Amino acid sequence: MFSAGNIVSSNTCKRCKLEYPTRQNKCHHCTGLSDDKAAQLANSYYAELHKSNRKLRRTMLIGMLVVINILLIGFMLI
Ligand SMILES: [Zn+2]
Repeated sequence: MFSAGNIVSSNTCKRCKLEYPTRQNKCHHCTGLSDDKAAQLANSYYAELHKSNRKLRRTMLIGMLVVINILLIGFMLI
């Protein structure tokens, strides 16, 4: 009925602060990178994450305004 086969638990890497599956014994993001490159990887990942969150927030706000306008127009027509 239910399968737990797709559930993946993860660890947070101490070097790059990214998550990797617990079934791997090493982080696949920063293995082979120097400490500086691992920190740079984490910084660029979080910068991209913040950028995409700002885009999502703007999209959600526009969607909310469209729904409010549709509701207001609907109530005015009643
Ligand atoms: Zn890592």
